[in-house]
Amino acid sequence: KQYTKEEILNHAESSNVRYIRLQFTDLLGIVKNVEIPVDQLGKALDNKIMFDGSSIEGFVRIEESDMYLVPDYSTWLVFPWDTPQGKIARLICDIHLPDGTPFPGDPRSVLKQTVERAKELGFSSFNVGSEPEFFLFKIDENGNPTDQVNDEGGYFDWAPLDLGENCRRDIVLTLEHMGFEVEASHHEVAPGQHEIDFKYTDALEAADNIATFRLVVKTVARQHGLHATFMAKPVYGINGSGMHAHLSLFKEDGNAFYDESDEMGLSVTARHFLAGILEHAPGFTAICNPTVNSYKRLVPGYEAPSYIAWSGKNRSPLVRVPAARGQSTRIEVRSPDPTCNPYLAIATLLAAGLDGIERNLPLAPPVNRNIYIMSDAEKEEVGIRSLPPTLNDAIDALAKDEVLREALGQHVLLHFIEAKKIEYNIYRTQVTEWEKDQYLHLY
Ligand code: GLN
Ligand code: MG
Ligand code: MG
Ligand code: MG
Repeated sequence: KQYTKEEILNHAESSNVRYIRLQFTDLLGIVKNVEIPVDQLGKALDNKIMFDGSSIEGFVRIEESDMYLVPDYSTWLVFPWDTPQGKIARLICDIHLPDGTPFPGDPRSVLKQTVERAKELGFSSFNVGSEPEFFLFKIDENGNPTDQVNDEGGYFDWAPLDLGENCRRDIVLTLEHMGFEVEASHHEVAPGQHEIDFKYTDALEAADNIATFRLVVKTVARQHGLHATFMAKPVYGINGSGMHAHLSLFKEDGNAFYDESDEMGLSVTARHFLAGILEHAPGFTAICNPTVNSYKRLVPGYEAPSYIAWSGKNRSPLVRVPAARGQSTRIEVRSPDPTCNPYLAIATLLAAGLDGIERNLPLAPPVNRNIYIMSDAEKEEVGIRSLPPTLNDAIDALAKDEVLREALGQHVLLHFIEAKKIEYNIYRTQVTEWEKDQYLHLY
């Protein structure tokens, strides 16, 4: 909803708001905020609040650290929780440089610019629906998270013994209270694993929602004495957590992915977009799967993709086209995981698809067989490539992808790659339990 300054000030007063969090995310998708008392709200709404960007991951050098927070009025939200000091509200902000121009390292502005490009190509909106999965773990006596789940539930289980069910129901109620339209919520395949799906929205709101969603899930889980994690593969040997992304482009007259005269009901636009997604999949993997651990999920056998292909039917490839048509026509990209920076992830997916449209990229035929049981020779014959197998490979693929480099911009690209290289190199030198079990006695 588009609020005016007056409406926000009045609502803050009538809802007993005492503090406001001016929220943004860093390059790694971590939510940051500057908290101000309510008497500063007017000033904040006039874009007059400054902060020091030099200590934020991937932001700026010390000598250019002053940044302005520019609240997006439509993101005004009063958190439902009571605190001893009264209610807390938040505003999601863009970040501007002292000269008033958008800061190029702000992920939200990267997404806004990519959405602008879609508008230039005649699309009125890029709609994104996401299916974030997460685990609920027990907390030990000292308040630290464990990797012990608290249920024996499985996919869609009624699971009467599952304490996580109550927690998840509370999360859904809280989200609805905050204006989310929750479409489905269920136990996932792995023990302790859950999924909550909310209705698709325009790209920017979808990214804001994912950031807020992760905060809400973690906060409510704590209130239930549980630790929620969006880590991609927290437990060896069972499914990891994905965040499937359902994507569609709209024009003023409706869904641009639908064409009733096509044998599959897919428009030429949808086909080119999908071809762009497949073309740039190696490149966007570092952004959509940004941790060392993400790559332990993208392996055969756990319902997560590891090959670059699409299908109208089965769920082993990277992209599936769900059966719904008409206004609901969309593609489902199954590789992203919930550790991604949602702004950058959605921006790269959009940039990949738009490139397919701009270059009229031809779409390879669907692969309706189980790719996991195809031999390497068979895969090569039909041209099925693999997703990058490690964060290191994914970084290299991103660095080579001109289209995604341009979409992310120089600032984000360089800082992201630098941070991820450091992360990978630290990981590379670790000696794991598995290695000790494997080699200590043998050699
Ligand atoms: N957890 C699976 C993944 O990692 C997805 C399972 C499902 O939604 N069917 O993507
Ligand atoms: Mg689902
Ligand atoms: Mg799922
Ligand atoms: Mg799905």
